[in-house]
Amino acid sequence: MNKYETLKNYFGYDSFREGQEHLIDAILSGRDVLGIMPTGAGKSLCYQVPALMLPGITLVISPLISLMKDQVQALNQAGVHAAYLNSSLTERQMTKALQLAAQGQYRIIYVAPERLETWEFLDFASKVTISMVTVDEAHCISQWGQDFRPSYLKIVTFIRRLPKRPVVSAFTATATETVKNDICEVLQLKRPKVLVTGFDRRNLYFGVETPPSKDAFTMDYIRQHGRDSGIIYCATRKNVDQLYEKLRKKKVPVTRYHAGLSAQERQGSQDDFIYDRKPVMVATNAFGMGIDKSDVRYVIHYNMPQSLENYYQEAGRAGRDGEPAECILLFSAQDIMIAKFLIENREDNPDLDSREAEKILARDEERLRAMSYYCMTQECLRRYILNYFGEEMKEDCGNCSCCQKDYEKEDVTAAAVSVIECIRQCRGRFGINVIAGTLSGANRAKLREYGMEELPSFGVLKNLSEGGIKEIIQQMLVMGYLIASSDRYALIRTTKEADEIMDGRQRISVRKLKKNHSEEKIHRHTHAADSLTGRGTELFEILRGLRTELAKEAGVPPYMIFSDKTLTDMCVRQPLNRAEMLEVSGVGENKYERFGEQFMDKITRFSKGGKEKMYRD
Ligand code: ADP
Ligand code: MG
Repeated sequence: MNKYETLKNYFGYDSFREGQEHLIDAILSGRDVLGIMPTGAGKSLCYQVPALMLPGITLVISPLISLMKDQVQALNQAGVHAAYLNSSLTERQMTKALQLAAQGQYRIIYVAPERLETWEFLDFASKVTISMVTVDEAHCISQWGQDFRPSYLKIVTFIRRLPKRPVVSAFTATATETVKNDICEVLQLKRPKVLVTGFDRRNLYFGVETPPSKDAFTMDYIRQHGRDSGIIYCATRKNVDQLYEKLRKKKVPVTRYHAGLSAQERQGSQDDFIYDRKPVMVATNAFGMGIDKSDVRYVIHYNMPQSLENYYQEAGRAGRDGEPAECILLFSAQDIMIAKFLIENREDNPDLDSREAEKILARDEERLRAMSYYCMTQECLRRYILNYFGEEMKEDCGNCSCCQKDYEKEDVTAAAVSVIECIRQCRGRFGINVIAGTLSGANRAKLREYGMEELPSFGVLKNLSEGGIKEIIQQMLVMGYLIASSDRYALIRTTKEADEIMDGRQRISVRKLKKNHSEEKIHRHTHAADSLTGRGTELFEILRGLRTELAKEAGVPPYMIFSDKTLTDMCVRQPLNRAEMLEVSGVGENKYERFGEQFMDKITRFSKGGKEKMYRD
């Protein structure tokens, strides 16, 4: 089988995505490769396709048990013999698996890096032909990456011990120079073909919202997205627990995940989510790595993360299947303070001396600043992100909240002057709520108690809303005219740069929706099935039901049977025979043999053997 036949036969796809073919060709010609592609770009296929074409066994080193399980299940569903070797197996299972492997039962074997040193494994590896060693999530090898795994350093010793050096391929979504060089050096890649694809994820919509109530927004959003899978990231465990309880009381099928839960609870939550029993996940950033669920239709950030690096990685878990999905960040005045607090109060890394620690703190503050600007910019959000990662974008994307909403710049320098005066009158004793309340002349017991009504600044901005005033203060904080204390009170002072505003050398503006802006113009898709007609959606739901049943029987998550995209394509084409079914994107030989007839049966019954037009133009 050539590479196209392999792609179609096992995975059901007709064409390669950007970069895949180059990497596959290089591997097949015997060259080492390093593939750097964003989350969801399809890195797995880059080694799975050649693994099925090379003569011997491919070993895939992967950092997490859940990742291995997910990949092996998906391969088995596609009719590929694959297995994993890690600490989740009993000794007997391990021996058995190695026996089968030695007999050549598996083309692809996933293995935890710790295993590579064990005597049994080395013995096995020296007896069989290993054509390729693949290092997935290869950034784990770098001490500078976010997820350094010391055990990854063992990989290279292992490769050296093999009787014949196999092709070595490495994959990651982390694109920094340091990490890239580390991977090439530590793994001792030989003249590798390094391929970096663009970081744009076109199917993702990016949005920043500042709703009056984040809870109400989230609730509404979930309601509007029916049974779709979504992740809601919160900054702290406490936030997760609170939101989780609220949603649960409203009967949302929700689960939660954070480091404060027991390992067993976490496993349970993760499974509920992956198997679609609870399609909504509320979690801290502890959740995510190792989740390859491809049909996550939205990722909401309930709080602003600490950097765009984090944001893009977390948001990128939406829409891995390439179908439309949404990434929405709910921004509020407190978020910058929370993030700042978390950065300044995290545990010190004992391996760093004080100079290094200071350097990292400064770097993280810079990252936080860039993240904050993202929440306030009126430019195309996608361009902002890609620029940050060093890519140019010529035209606005048209698929982000800034492109779709009519924002305009509003000069707020006069108000900023009032803010500075007020803060100076308070001598830095108060936080954003008291200051905004004072300026707007709010009628609150607290303000009276503090004697704010006596200040000359009281009520001078009463023509603005408190929210509007907070936005201006936020902007000034980000631009460095104001500074907040890093304790939990976040008391605000002015900096010496504030004088530049007072004497008119600097101006400040914020973004504002244009008066004639109407939400109706905004038309977004988050669902593969959104392009279907009413009848089409009916059929989609029938097929989705069948998928759930089959997944239960097979003991795998539904998305591993067929993706939403495949089901949608079935609705559009309404295949009536084998040849037509095999034309559907995501239907390969093996899946056809196992599930094809049952899906065709439902389709025939629904459309009575005819073909209707089921998609909207
Ligand atoms: P990554 O590891 O880069 O984050 P994955 O390998 O998990 O991404 O792939 C993401 C999704 O894209 C999977 O559902 C996979 O089946 C799908 N995919 C990969 N390559 C193709 C392709 N050529 N055509 C269609 N879908 C693809
Ligand atoms: Mg991957």
